[in-house]
Parts: sequence; structure tokens; C-alpha cells
Amino acid sequence: MADWDWWPRFHDPSLRLSLRDQVAVHWDANVRMLRDWRACWTFVWISLLPVPLLAVAVVAVTSTFAAPAARLPVALGIGLVMLATYGFLQHVAFSVAMRRTYVPLVRMALAARGHPTCVACGHLLGPGAPAACPECGSATSGNG
Ligand SMILES: [Zn+2]
Repeated sequence: MADWDWWPRFHDPSLRLSLRDQVAVHWDANVRMLRDWRACWTFVWISLLPVPLLAVAVVAVTSTFAAPAARLPVALGIGLVMLATYGFLQHVAFSVAMRRTYVPLVRMALAARGHPTCVACGHLLGPGAPAACPECGSATSGNG
């Protein structure tokens, strides 16, 4: 996770697409995703990983604090910390799921629309696409 960003990087920022082209690329990537049950399944299970943790935490906290109303502020504080922790973990899980499944499909959709893009890192390969990505070294065959 050396190059962790808070939102997946679909492609090189030097590629500027109109809103219409962005919508077309993401539409294409969504169709590609829906045709790939393995990508859909992987996306769902990674995205849902934090949910059992939340369920266990809720059960643990509610069984501990089913007590006098005087403890209500403490329970609310713990609830807020739990919510923030869950939100953080859920965002990380969603980002990992996007990166593993959807992001490569966006890059394939870009290549199919005349913007040869490295599926591994999002680097723009330019015309006469090389056999290996100059940015990350991944093989680029079948891309473009
Ligand atoms: Zn690359």
C-alpha cells in the first residue's frame, strides 16, 4: 500500500476527459463488471468485510451498557467512536474492492476508447503502445 490514496486513481491525471467521455467510460466499465461474476463477487465480499466487525462491536457494547441512564453519555461516546471506526474501515474496504475489481475495468474501457492505459497502474501508454508499461513494468499486451 505504498501508493495509497483515499480514492482510487483511475488513470494518469494528464488525461482530461469531457464529462460525456467520463460517463461513457464508466458506463462501459460497469457493463464489463456486470459481465464478470468473479469481479462482482470479489467486490461484494471485500466491501462487506467490516460489517461482521460492526455487528460484534454493537452486540458487545449493548450487552455491556444495558444499564443505568447515567451511563448514557458514555454509551453515546462509544457509539460515535464505533461509527467513525466503522466508517473508516468501510471506506478502506470499498477502496480496496474498487482497486481490485473496478479500476482495471475502467482502464480497459479507456483503452477500448482510444486511450491506451496500463491496466496495472493507470499510466497513459500513448500511441504505438509499448509491450511493457514504462511506469510500472507490467506487460501491456492485449491493451489498446
Ligand atoms: Zn503501469
